[in-house]
Amino acid sequence: MSDAKVRLYVDQPLGAGQAVALTADQAHYLFAVMRLGAGDLVLLFNGRDGEWRAEVAASAKRGGTLACLAQTAPLQPPPDLWLLFAPIKKARTDFIVEKAVEMGAARILPVQTRFTNAERLRQDKLHAHAIEAAEQCGATFVPEVTDLQQLDRLLATWPADRRLMWGDEGLAGQTASLPDLPRGQPWAILIGPEGGFAETEKTRLRALPQIVPVSLGPRILRADTAAVAALTLWQLRYGDWA
Ligand code: SAM
Repeated sequence: MSDAKVRLYVDQPLGAGQAVALTADQAHYLFAVMRLGAGDLVLLFNGRDGEWRAEVAASAKRGGTLACLAQTAPLQPPPDLWLLFAPIKKARTDFIVEKAVEMGAARILPVQTRFTNAERLRQDKLHAHAIEAAEQCGATFVPEVTDLQQLDRLLATWPADRRLMWGDEGLAGQTASLPDLPRGQPWAILIGPEGGFAETEKTRLRALPQIVPVSLGPRILRADTAAVAALTLWQLRYGDWA
C-alpha cells in the first residue's frame, strides 16, 4: 500500500534517485489543486519503467522537482489487443478510449468507415484521455491512440498473424462465442459506427482470412456499449483476467 494521494503520468525516465522536473500544469495540479508540499509522496509512471514512489523535492508555482525513491510495480503491459472503432460523438468517443484503457487494450485505432459520422478527431486529446484513464485505473502502460485511418486501407495491409474479432450486428441473437485458441496471440477488435457497416465493407471483412465475426448478444448495442462488451468477452476468453 502506498500513502501517496496522487498517481501521475510523466513523460520522463524513472529510476532510483532519478529527478523528475514538473511541467507548469503538473505543478499546478500537485501544489495548488492537491495541496502537496515538500516531502509529500506521489506515485509516478511513464508507460515504460513501471510505477515509482517519489517525493516532492522542490515546489514552485510554475514548476518543481520530484525525486524517485523506489519502484512500487513493474511495467505490466496489457495483452496484445488492438481496439478498432469508428468514432462517434465526442463524449462517447472519449468514453470508448477511457474504457479501452481500463479494460486492457494495448493500442487504440479510430477508423473511418463508410458510415462514420464523427466530428473532427483530436488525436492529442484522445491521447490525454488515455493517460488520465491510466492514472485512475492503476495501469503502468498507456496504449497508443493512433490518428484516424481509413478502415479499408488498414485492412489492405492487415498483419497475417493478427486475428480480427468483428462485432457483427448481423449475428445479434446468436450465441456469443469465440473459437478455442490459446492465449497470448495478437488480436484486434472491430466495432462499427452507429449506422453499422456498408455491404461492401461486410463483404471485405468476410473475405479477410483473419476475421472472427462475433455476436454480442440478442440486442443491438450502441457502439460504446459494444466496445466494452467486446473487450469483456475477449478478456475473459484470451486476456489477462484469468
Ligand atoms: N445501425 C446498425 C444496425 O442495426 O445494423 C447498428 C450499429 S451498432 C449501434 C454499432 C456497432 O456495434 C456495430 O457495427 C457492431 O460492431 C456493434 N454491435 C452492436 N450490437 C451488436 C451485437 N448484438 N452483436 C455484434 N455486434 C454488435
